[in-house]
Amino acid sequence: MSTDRKKVIFCDFDGTITVNDNIVAVIKHFNPEGWEAIVDDIIQQRITIQQGVGALFRLLPASMKKEVVDYAIGNATIRAGFADLLAYCKRQDIEFYVTSGGIDFFVYPLLAQFGIPEDHIYCNGSDFSGERIEITWPHSCDDECASGGCGMCKPAVIRRFPQEHFERILIGDSVTDFEGAKLAELVFSRSHLTEKCRELGLPHVEFETFHDIIAHLEQERTTVR
Ligand SMILES: [Mg+2]
Ligand SMILES: [Zn+2]
Repeated sequence: MSTDRKKVIFCDFDGTITVNDNIVAVIKHFNPEGWEAIVDDIIQQRITIQQGVGALFRLLPASMKKEVVDYAIGNATIRAGFADLLAYCKRQDIEFYVTSGGIDFFVYPLLAQFGIPEDHIYCNGSDFSGERIEITWPHSCDDECASGGCGMCKPAVIRRFPQEHFERILIGDSVTDFEGAKLAELVFSRSHLTEKCRELGLPHVEFETFHDIIAHLEQERTTVR
């Protein structure tokens, strides 16, 4: 029975908590030569996410730090219902983690208003001390990860919450969620992640806003099994 297991949510950031993918938005805006091919390689899984995201930011000089950070923060929109989902999780004693393949310089500022403890936010780091922007990987893959190149490894985080004790719920939209979705008991999906779940036959619930997710969780909770 899932009823005696504690629910824990692993929520993606780019394209999930925010309406658009911030990495793609930043790169598109500054438009350094060669970015399209790298994005395509990531989506088609010809290179790992870690290789691709590292390569994308290396196209930008570190001297552009202020422009890059300001653009990323200024152009993101939070998806409807996010604060309500956090409040719902608090009320229902559901643990909530942000598991993001995004970068610290936009993830933390954009989440600051929501009061999520920092140890509940996983994302990649950044280093502007060299000539080019260098992404750092404080939460890279464990030995068990099939991908080996997640950058921020969602399966490694999810594995810390064993299935015997937790009902693991993943919320996401794209390529950074594929490996985690294979482990989770329930997936809320949009976009590329929906296609991937269909392809792999993974149980998933499509969503557009976080209100859809609250409605589903509430329906599950109030359904007598
Ligand atoms: Mg995403
Ligand atoms: Zn991994």
